[in-house]
Amino acid sequence: MSRRTLIAGNWKMNGSAAAVDAFASAIAADAGSTDADLLVCVPFVYIERMARGLAGTGVALGAQNLADVGEPGAYTGEVNGAMLRESGCTHVIVGHSERRAMYGETDSVVAAKLEAAVAAGLVPVVCVGETLAEREADRAEAVLSAQVDALFEQCRPESLARMVLAYEPVWAIGTGRSASPEQAQAIHAFLRGRIAQQDATLANSMQLLYGGSVKPDNAAALFAGADVDGALVGGASLKADSFLDIARAAP
Ligand code: PEP
Repeated sequence: MSRRTLIAGNWKMNGSAAAVDAFASAIAADAGSTDADLLVCVPFVYIERMARGLAGTGVALGAQNLADVGEPGAYTGEVNGAMLRESGCTHVIVGHSERRAMYGETDSVVAAKLEAAVAAGLVPVVCVGETLAEREADRAEAVLSAQVDALFEQCRPESLARMVLAYEPVWAIGTGRSASPEQAQAIHAFLRGRIAQQDATLANSMQLLYGGSVKPDNAAALFAGADVDGALVGGASLKADSFLDIARAAP
């Protein structure tokens, strides 16, 4: 089956109103220069501004987190999926390693957020990845298996069918040290195989993104992997030109 290529940007806690406007107008001028699907995930406060700027471009908009409950109520500081939808989001990043490491998001929280996203009509972009210590201890596959298996144990099949999976080795995020194309493809093939043990059809259709220091100059080699269906891009997504250069490197 042929899977579409998705290039997703993660602005993290970066940006400003001026940066949103500059990005959106540059993308609006040039979004047609790639066949890949584009998605940009910005801080909550910039979602509506980015939605206005990207209107009519076909570029999708996402958030970087959501509440693990859908019902509105006494959850100070939280934002639920329905609010994200109403603000213009179609996607949301779930379980980024920074949230797992800094905000205590366990596999159970990630599973609950996946369900909350799907219940709100959002596509969850769920992140998994191993740390450097885990890779060096030859535990990358075990760690990834545990993260993926938890989703299959705790989420409904129809929810899993909606998700995009992003492999983001923690040691490659924001370090300038990307996984090699061979390392990325090997893990993506492993993840697809692991999912196939649960559901072969889903394994075949699920988009698997690579994330971790993707730049215009390494993107084409990473995208050459048969199981690499695009990228989740942090730093290089902050400027429209580097983000589009990455997208144009997609096959
Ligand atoms: C990320 O934030 O998900 C990421 C992959 O960051 P970077 O591209 O900067 O490594």
